[in-house]
Amino acid sequence: MMRRKLVAGNWKMHGLKADLGEVRAISAAMPDNVDAALCVPFTLIASAVEAAGDMLIGAQDVHEADKGAHTGCISAGMLIEAGAGLTLVGHSERRADQHETDAQVKAKAEAAHRAGLMVILCVGETLEERDSGRAEAVVTAQVAASLPAGAHGMWLALAYEPVWAIGTGRTPTEGDVAAMHGAIRAKLRELIGGEAESMRILYGGSVNAANASALLGCADVDGALVGGASLTADKFVPIIEAAAALG
Ligand code: PEP
Repeated sequence: MMRRKLVAGNWKMHGLKADLGEVRAISAAMPDNVDAALCVPFTLIASAVEAAGDMLIGAQDVHEADKGAHTGCISAGMLIEAGAGLTLVGHSERRADQHETDAQVKAKAEAAHRAGLMVILCVGETLEERDSGRAEAVVTAQVAASLPAGAHGMWLALAYEPVWAIGTGRTPTEGDVAAMHGAIRAKLRELIGGEAESMRILYGGSVNAANASALLGCADVDGALVGGASLTADKFVPIIEAAAALG
């Protein structure tokens, strides 16, 4: 099945109104045959939506409850009201720093979908798990335990992000990327049958202009989730263009 590539940026805890020019420049360069998105801090969503034109603006997290006594948290309905069209869930930095579990990640994805958001659900192994030969088992177990009910490629994408590749400049070999994406696809087939073919599986971890074509060209790689290299148009646009060239 032909899956349209999705290239999403994760600005993490970067981005003030002074940076909206980058949002404008990225959206102006968006090709027709690729989906592009930027996941910005909560505080920047509304103004990034205004700057982004047709490009999708997303959040980096959402709370699993629709409302309630959760000081400092943001619900899916609030994200929708701010103009967001998607959210990340289960990023490894949140799994590590905020101790998010697979069950919580699943509940967050379900809450986001209920409110009408697209979701990018992140999974990935640590270096210790890879070195001990457990990478595929760990990642496919994360997929099984965090996949939301009713998972469908219309609103859900997965992002395979090896924890040791995030922000380090290190990437897995193309063979390892293809093998992991194949294992994730196989697990999805087991879990949701034919719907697995519609689901985009993004690769994330130190993607840049120099390695984007090779990583995006791997079997079963349907796009990229990009951190550091998404902060400026001069670094992010070449990655989007590499995806566009692959169709
Ligand atoms: C990320 O944080 O999702 C990410 C992939 O970061 P980087 O591209 O900087 O490795």
